[in-house]
Amino acid sequence: MAPADAVAEAVGSSVNRLLTVGCTVADSIEAMEIASGFDNVWATAGVHPHDAKDGTDGLRQLFDAEVAPVAVGECGLDYHYSHSEHDVQAEVFATQIRMAHELDLALVIHSRSAWDDTFAILDSEGVPERTVFHCFTGGPGEARKALDRGCYLSFSGIVTFPSAPELREAAVFCPSDRLLVETDSPYLAPVPHRGKSNKPAWVSVVGEAVAEVRNEPVEEVAELTWVNGERLYRL
Ligand SMILES: [Zn+2]
Repeated sequence: MAPADAVAEAVGSSVNRLLTVGCTVADSIEAMEIASGFDNVWATAGVHPHDAKDGTDGLRQLFDAEVAPVAVGECGLDYHYSHSEHDVQAEVFATQIRMAHELDLALVIHSRSAWDDTFAILDSEGVPERTVFHCFTGGPGEARKALDRGCYLSFSGIVTFPSAPELREAAVFCPSDRLLVETDSPYLAPVPHRGKSNKPAWVSVVGEAVAEVRNEPVEEVAELTWVNGERLYRL
């Protein structure tokens, strides 16, 4: 889907602000170019653990742009796929944590099957004041560890999957001021769209699922995730 179509469809579904995420340096530049064409789209810039093997050359200077990215990331550790060596992932993650500190920016973490090392690296580098576990996949235990470190938890369409009861427990457990929702488009389309290419318009489906498990009105969850996103990214 072309960016303009994705944005128009999102706005048509009352999804009024979007964050497009960089996962490589080239990808981050593209995200910045897209964001510069809209008043309601922001970019992040980072190197995903899958691409850690390519290093972070060229990343830092992206933040000097006139319309700079609002966050460092996605970055982190992915031991599920292990597309890059673990020690390389660790190094590239630590570099980006330091970048978030230096620039006083939000940090967007991708962590999959790597909880212990993710927390260890965060602890040794210091957790940036505004840090989010994007597409959080843990249960209440991992949620506690992230929240104790002052992090936000962002829930994706996985919260609608029958196979994710522990994640739903974490969504119930998450304090109102730490809760976010996302699509992770084009991945992880929520039920009942599962298997299709995901799109920003469907973040409302994720929000409805989170509201249902928390037993809160959808409007309330929409409002608080909006406010939390604004605070996290300083939009
Ligand atoms: Zn991710």
